[in-house]
Amino acid sequence: MRVLVISDIHANLTALKTVLEDVGENHAENPPYEAVWCLGDLIGYGPDPNPCIELVRTLPNLICLIGNHDQAALDLIPLSRFNEDARLSATWTRSVLTPENESYLRSLPSQVEVDAFTLVHASPRFPIWEYVLDPYTADQNFDLLETDYCLIGHTHIALSFSRAIGKEHSVLQTTQLGDPVKLAPKMMLNPGSVGQPRDMDPRASYAVLDLERGTWEARRVVYDIEEVQERILKAGLPERQALRLFAGW
Ligand code: ZN
Repeated sequence: MRVLVISDIHANLTALKTVLEDVGENHAENPPYEAVWCLGDLIGYGPDPNPCIELVRTLPNLICLIGNHDQAALDLIPLSRFNEDARLSATWTRSVLTPENESYLRSLPSQVEVDAFTLVHASPRFPIWEYVLDPYTADQNFDLLETDYCLIGHTHIALSFSRAIGKEHSVLQTTQLGDPVKLAPKMMLNPGSVGQPRDMDPRASYAVLDLERGTWEARRVVYDIEEVQERILKAGLPERQALRLFAGW
């Protein structure tokens, strides 16, 4: 089975649709994916919270987690934990979210185990809010990881880590576009962000996990950023949220 792994859509419908087109049309596998694992933060920052939730809900064999921005929109996290832009976006998101989409978000788990994989938004230690950006933080989380693999989002950067069984320290797992990584226990894999990449590469980021072959393939795709920027400004959301999409931060 092939699994489309996405995270941090952040209410960017154009990026989400482009990812679904890319995985469906631009790659040879048939079917391109049979399941979707979404690691949270469907909303927050972007202008399309309701359409993004509604589209995600239609995806096949979906496992979807809740992220910190989803929780903020539900008033489950105090907005004081966010910077000003994120706060303004969360307040706006709350004001437009339909009751149906709100109750869908409320139903989402913060952690799921499936086969050899633990799925969380942030980390095994803190499923909702921790940035795994370095081997030291990865090590602390590998110590707590009970499955062979962990899929994480939250950082908006497709950084992955591996720690071979019996080894004390983890290393950065290099992932090259178009060159699938062979899975070997233990690994912590991050698909990057669909709707707001933060590695100075503005292309939407996602991954395809092939459970039969045991591979993880990182992918990027160009989408129409200007279209999203127009909607951000039209909604009265902070201009910085529009500008950052071009630069990828
Ligand atoms: Zn996020």
